[in-house]
Amino acid sequence: METIRRTKISDLLQQDDFGATVSVKGWVRTRRGNKNVSFIALNDGSTINNIQIVAEIEKFGEDFLKPVTTGACIHVVGKYVESQGQGQKGEILAEKIEIYGSADPATYPLQKKGHSLEFLREIAHLRPRTNTFGAIFRMRHHMSYAIHKYFNDRGFYYLHTPIVTASDAEGAGSMFQVTTLNLNNVPRTEMQDVDYSEDFFGRQTNLTVSGQLEGELGAMALGAVYTFGPTFRAENSNTPRHLAEFWMIEPEVAFYDIHDNMDLAEDFLKYLIRYALDNCADDIAFLNEHFDKELIERLNFVVNNDFVRLTYTEGVKILEESGHKFEFPVYWGADLQSEHERYLVENHFKRPVILTDYPKEIKSFYMKQNDDGKTVRGMDVLFPKIGEIIGGSERESDYDKLTKHMEEIGMNSAPIWWYIETRKFGTAPHAGFGLGFERLMLFVTGMANIRDVIPFPRTPNNADF
Ligand code: ATP
Ligand code: MN
Repeated sequence: METIRRTKISDLLQQDDFGATVSVKGWVRTRRGNKNVSFIALNDGSTINNIQIVAEIEKFGEDFLKPVTTGACIHVVGKYVESQGQGQKGEILAEKIEIYGSADPATYPLQKKGHSLEFLREIAHLRPRTNTFGAIFRMRHHMSYAIHKYFNDRGFYYLHTPIVTASDAEGAGSMFQVTTLNLNNVPRTEMQDVDYSEDFFGRQTNLTVSGQLEGELGAMALGAVYTFGPTFRAENSNTPRHLAEFWMIEPEVAFYDIHDNMDLAEDFLKYLIRYALDNCADDIAFLNEHFDKELIERLNFVVNNDFVRLTYTEGVKILEESGHKFEFPVYWGADLQSEHERYLVENHFKRPVILTDYPKEIKSFYMKQNDDGKTVRGMDVLFPKIGEIIGGSERESDYDKLTKHMEEIGMNSAPIWWYIETRKFGTAPHAGFGLGFERLMLFVTGMANIRDVIPFPRTPNNADF
């Protein structure tokens, strides 16, 4: 076929240059018509909208058009004309059609519309071709870009923290071990322990659960940094909000206290949601119509309203006095469950909530200790439908307090001697938080299951694709 430069469907649908000959390439969503003409809905992933191809049977022949079925990939050259039909601006009168690849209707799984999300998870190699997953994965891209833009525009540096680590950002959950040892013949020490000195790194290593500890090292030099990378947790929690492999964004800022940290978290989330509304309007409109009729309203609400800020102690009091029957008991000292978090957000305040000053027993060793001796300067941002979307804190920057607390909880400081040294050499107040990227994606897409906002989910007993 002649070589005209390919036009993306998203670009084509924005122009009114009717009469021009154009070239488009994409996957057939549907073909319908009569014995005179075929109407092909073509999608190339650049937008949720299809372009309609009008192909005269007389011109192409029925046999030629036979393999142009749902899922087939074709190249079309033709005249872009104003559309006769409703709901679309232009369509293409096909002059030439080239079939790159057919998709046998007897075996191509995406025949009809309205497959269940569960079924689509089993065909993760093809689900990006559905309207729903096209929308979600385009939005994932836009959100990733917005995250980098937000920080870049504000002078934060993107710090690449390691994926393989010998340290555990304590309390963040169980880790996946990384090893090259032969598991059928594990080397043993005299004491019959695994001899990690024979392992690749000469010691036991894991996949990271958080880039925070290294992020803090960056903040102590560059001032304001952020990470945005994969994180791994081997928790056997089969919930709609947990993945074994997920992406986390972790800003860390020198000279920030917990109030600055809350301001950053609130501004950041509002920016990202506004960015989605401004840049993903077609995709959000589709998701709003098909999955969550309150999505757009909820996104606007969060952008336009202040988050409520209160202490854990105040939050627990509200829950205790609510008279609501929770599955898990609530009392001062309890680690709040999703049902408690969502009660505060959805039933009590009806807006996002930032809880601060948690009991030190339920939070990590690095959080700044309050003078009351009982609580630490941790903060969780709680969202409707999600529960915890961000967890963060002001960090303990005092060498004596940090090491004493580690001793109290029986934590060996030797493996993170380098972390402790930042409190010895030019220590500074600082704070940061972690935003789970897929939790953000759940919120901006209105999807209910975290497996549906990442292309290839990793969960217990599932590492397909
Ligand atoms: P949760 O209590 O919901 O299990 P967490 O307190 O263990 O989360 P943090 O260690 O504070 O989580 O991690 C920071 C953020 O990373 C969380 O606020 C959440 O947005 C996200 N996150 C944590 N665990 C997961 C997971 N398994 N899958 C997806 N996102 C996660
Ligand atoms: Mn947390």
